[in-house]
Amino acid sequence: MNSNKIKKYIFPLLLLICVVSISVHYLVPIYLQSNMMGEFNKGVFSNKKGHELHPKLFVADMHADVLLWERDFFSRNDYGHVDLPRLQEGNVSLQIFTIVTKAPKSMNINKTDDSGLDRITPLSIVQGWPIQSWFSLFSRAVHQISRLKKWESRSKNQLMIIRSRKDMRDFIELKTFQKKMVAAIIGLEGAHALEKDLIKLKVLFQEGLRVLGLTHFFDNAVAGSAHGVKKGGLTKFGKEVIERANKYGIIFDLSHLSEKASFEVIKLSKKPVINTHTGLRGKCKNERNISDELAKAVAETGGIIGIGFWPTATCGQTTKSIVDMIKYATELVGVEHVGLGSDFDGTVKTPIDSSSMKSITSELIVAGYSNEDIAKIMGGNLKEFFLKYLP
Ligand SMILES: [Zn+2]
Repeated sequence: MNSNKIKKYIFPLLLLICVVSISVHYLVPIYLQSNMMGEFNKGVFSNKKGHELHPKLFVADMHADVLLWERDFFSRNDYGHVDLPRLQEGNVSLQIFTIVTKAPKSMNINKTDDSGLDRITPLSIVQGWPIQSWFSLFSRAVHQISRLKKWESRSKNQLMIIRSRKDMRDFIELKTFQKKMVAAIIGLEGAHALEKDLIKLKVLFQEGLRVLGLTHFFDNAVAGSAHGVKKGGLTKFGKEVIERANKYGIIFDLSHLSEKASFEVIKLSKKPVINTHTGLRGKCKNERNISDELAKAVAETGGIIGIGFWPTATCGQTTKSIVDMIKYATELVGVEHVGLGSDFDGTVKTPIDSSSMKSITSELIVAGYSNEDIAKIMGGNLKEFFLKYLP
């Protein structure tokens, strides 16, 4: 080809590359979010009592994966589950923002190994994350925390990252005259993001990590997953992680952890433990949900169990099925130990998004709960927990 011909083709080719890159960057994540997390029905279920009570509640949700998605946090989106306008519309006062760093393609609740394609790798490339995060799970965690910090600084005091009991007290005070404020607590879904390095735990703690989930869908260097191949206990390195996290005052999240490792963590943790998103096997039997014995053990530590909103957690697809599971849990472990664990934006389909939390309040009224108990379940328990147990 002579140079004139090259010149003739080079501009259209560059233009095509630009158009394709921009389309992939914007459209693929939106396509994934719309398809994987469409809601079953978008309406809010509300009754008169729920409508009156909900605005008075401190609503808290224990698990959302919105940091994974490059979505405008300040616009009201019509896909996915969480953004600031929808949190405020749903009167959510506190959200645990959970960091996901690896999701093997073969992911399933019964037996997942971590070989094969990791879905977060193409997602991080397509979404234009920093290059080091394409290769490092730790960098993915750091990147997601930095996104939350940017949101906080852009939010004009509407979003506040909570790192301590003092922050929590300050937030509650500020909230009395800044009604729309939302508190954010940073959680990690799987200690594989530590890349077998305790220094990285220190860095994440300094960055604001306060809730540590040890595994996700697969066994890692720290412990066995409930959905892993071996489903074993804590490893030697895992025990070192527990010891160090205890020193920092980090709270352990038993979600996705094998039953064996869960009981080991309960023994070793200096603080009560939580399970941010789950169902209970006694009512909905599958490997994603925890046994009733484990639920009781979590409650005995003084911890809280966040009831999930998706079908595997509740064996249903409606807000009523969520409340049926809440009812089962409160009857088993007591109303003080139950909260909400939506798993919003965690590639699950839920009957509502964060704007429609009023539906849960209204369903709890139908289920016969008193206003005091509804306040506890909807977030009061978690508020008291963090006031007591954050560093
Ligand atoms: Zn999860």
